[in-house]
Amino acid sequence: KFITFEGIDGAGKSTHIGFVTDFLAGRGKTVVASREPGGTPLGEKLRDVLLHETMHLETEALLMFASRREHIAQVIAPQLAMGHWVLSDRFTDASFAYQSGGRGLSREKMEALEAWVHPALQPDLTLLFDVPLEVARERLAASRTLDKFEREQAEFFARCRAEYLRRAAQFPGRFVVVDSTRSIEAIQRELADVLERLL
Ligand code: C5P
Repeated sequence: KFITFEGIDGAGKSTHIGFVTDFLAGRGKTVVASREPGGTPLGEKLRDVLLHETMHLETEALLMFASRREHIAQVIAPQLAMGHWVLSDRFTDASFAYQSGGRGLSREKMEALEAWVHPALQPDLTLLFDVPLEVARERLAASRTLDKFEREQAEFFARCRAEYLRRAAQFPGRFVVVDSTRSIEAIQRELADVLERLL
C-alpha cells in the first residue's frame, strides 16, 4: 500500500514517518520510506535545485512533477508491484498546497500535471499533520536552519494549510487529518489505530 505524509513545514510529519515505518515492519511488512521532492538520485538533484534556486513558479511546479515522475518510475510503482509498502514524505497534495494554494498556480494546471504524471495512482492513505501556523513556526525556529520556502511569510503557509484542508475535505476516503498540536504519544496512538484499519 501507498501512504503519503503531508503538512506545512513544522507540522511534525517527519517525526511520525519513523514510527509508521517501525509499526508496519513490526507487522511483517516490507516498508520503503522515501520523500519528495527527491526519492531517487535524479530527484535529489532536483530537490537541491528546488530548495536553493529562485525560479519561475511554473518551472518550480514542473520540476516538482519531474521529480515525482522519476520517483514513481524508480521507486513507488516497482515497490508497490512487489507488494511492499511505500511511505512518501509529501506527494501531489503538496503541489496543490504549495505550488497552487501557496504560490497561486491554478488548480487546473496541477490537475493537468497530475493527470499526465500519474493518471491512475493515488495514495491508499494520506496522513495530513495539521497545526496552526504559530505552532509550526515555533517548531521550525527551534529545530534547524530554514530553507528558502520556510523563510517565506506566514500568509504563504496559511494558504498552503487551507489548500491541504480543502483537499482533505474533497477526498475524505483517503485523508486522515491528524491534530498535530497533541503530544507525540497521543498522535502515535491515533496512527496505530488508523494503520490497524488499513492492514
Ligand atoms: O518536506 P520537506 O520539508 O523536506 O520539503 C522541503 C521544502 O520544499 C519545504 O520547505 C516545502 O515547503 C517545499 N515544498 C514545496 N512544494 C512541494 C513540496 C515541498 O514548496 N510540492
